[in-house]
Amino acid sequence: NLILAIETSCDETAASVIRNGNEILSNVVASQIESQKRFGGVVPEIASRHHVEQITIVIEEALEKANIAPSELDAVAVTEGPGLVGALLIGINAAKAFAFAHGLPIIGVHHIAGHIYASALVEPMQFPLLALVVSGGHTELVYMKEHGSFEVIGETRDDAAGEAYDKVARVLNLPYPGGPHIDRMAHEAEKGVDFPRAWLEDSYDFSFSGLKSAVINYKHNMEQRGQEIFPEEIAKGFQDSVVEVLTTKTVKAAKEYGVKQVIVAGGVSANRGLRESLSKALAQEGIPFTAPPLHLCTDNAAMIGACAAYMYEAGVRGDLAMNGMPGKELKSWV
Ligand code: ATP
Ligand code: FE
Ligand code: MG
Repeated sequence: NLILAIETSCDETAASVIRNGNEILSNVVASQIESQKRFGGVVPEIASRHHVEQITIVIEEALEKANIAPSELDAVAVTEGPGLVGALLIGINAAKAFAFAHGLPIIGVHHIAGHIYASALVEPMQFPLLALVVSGGHTELVYMKEHGSFEVIGETRDDAAGEAYDKVARVLNLPYPGGPHIDRMAHEAEKGVDFPRAWLEDSYDFSFSGLKSAVINYKHNMEQRGQEIFPEEIAKGFQDSVVEVLTTKTVKAAKEYGVKQVIVAGGVSANRGLRESLSKALAQEGIPFTAPPLHLCTDNAAMIGACAAYMYEAGVRGDLAMNGMPGKELKSWV
């Protein structure tokens, strides 16, 4: 099948043409990072305005680069949620207009399912599978026994991993988004500050707000005592804590559920420390591990198209009454 996919859930305006859920014919992403940087985060109204300006250009560019005419497509896919409602609606309305104009079915995709299906663009998914989803708004362990089947076995009880990265980056006066900066600094430090790990007993849940407070308190105390602060050591201490907890829980779940593959998904999976740690720990257990290339980890439409390809084959269809669902839950389609 041949699918045009659109993604506007947050601050990237993206469109892509995907063949059979695994071949990227085009993958266009217009990022707003430069303009959102000034505000130290994503301002919803500004995000919506950017999407309005970019969406038509991005869709046309995706079709042009793929060298595909609308008549050749089988469906239009679009992120239905979760995300910023105003941002989602720009993509959804563009998708509806396109679907109506060209007589195509429309498929509403869950953003996190999309992040997970980025791995299908790298190699075929092997079931049962465990996905560690770590992004700006989510931190979840998702068990999949087959295509379209999602069971959330653990999730964050407070901040998402990416959110913690961005908040700690702010404390260290680093620009938005902070994840990549902390990652780089952590690799420059020889030793890290000793911060706590939130294990939450035997559960597969996560918590990062205590760690964030520990970083703030540490910096504050050092300042009060007039001691010199080494931001690289804070970055490394913070990253070591996040990575150790994420890795330990992922490996434990992978063994308990007897999965054939572990994949990592979402913006934080671009993190070098996390990729190295997961690949090492899973190799020791002999469990295959897939980490998509960085441009498929952060928000993009190719992942939405990959997910939609399987939904299309399973007969899932939306209609023109589709609405933005800011709090959409990850539900199975099988
Ligand atoms: P969600 O997918 O939950 O709706 P989102 O789409 O905003 O949220 P993504 O775009 O998937 O999130 O990821 C963005 C997050 O990834 C930001 O918090 C950013 O700091 C983080 N990030 C990006 N690169 C890295 C990195 N190298 N290390 C750590 N975090 C990173
Ligand atoms: Fe995302
Ligand atoms: Mg984003």
